[in-house]
Amino acid sequence: MSNEKILIVEDEKKIADIVKSYLKRDGFNVNIAETGEQALKLIKNKYDLIILDLKLPDIDGETICSTIREFSDVPIIMLTAKSSEEERVKGLGIGADDYVVKPFSPRELVARVKAHLRRTKKGEKKVLSFNKGALKIDTLSMEVTKRETVIPLTITEFKILLGLAERPHVIFSRLQLVNMVQGYDFEGYDRVIDAHIKNIRHKIEDDTQKPMFIKTVYGAGYKFIGVPD
Ligand code: CA
Repeated sequence: MSNEKILIVEDEKKIADIVKSYLKRDGFNVNIAETGEQALKLIKNKYDLIILDLKLPDIDGETICSTIREFSDVPIIMLTAKSSEEERVKGLGIGADDYVVKPFSPRELVARVKAHLRRTKKGEKKVLSFNKGALKIDTLSMEVTKRETVIPLTITEFKILLGLAERPHVIFSRLQLVNMVQGYDFEGYDRVIDAHIKNIRHKIEDDTQKPMFIKTVYGAGYKFIGVPD
């Protein structure tokens, strides 16, 4: 049994109730926010994961996601009716870790919730340091610093960076990377990985055109080129 706290932000009561009952059955503590305003009040409590509907009556899910990201790296799974790839990539670009397209199977959503929570927790304390301390990755606190300044990465961005940095100079395909962070692949995952890499580069590289850490290997994927200290 887990006592992890999950917030469902969803105005469609039927969907929220079904998801809640599935999560409660697995021992999660679940709160529901039916409006964006309610959600913004509730997120001040600490949650282990947030399920966020993109379309809400008052404040849109994107805005809520960005607001959460200003102070927290809690895993966020977006619920979206928008199935176009552009929208999905946009959702991940603003800091969501995953998304589920409606209509979805509650069972699958719960499986994803568990997968995200599992990956958030595991790992032992170890600090990886590169380029004479210019980039440091603390694998347990999940803290990344660039010249001693803490860089806020989302959980998914962190997992991609760590996955690459743990094995410098090994080329990872986009499929390997998506499996590393999500545990499954889906249509359009290659663009999603590119979007995450772009976000990570903006945060850790001095010049994204001349990356010192994550290099694109055309036609193959990405590799980490930082020099371990
Ligand atoms: Ca809705």
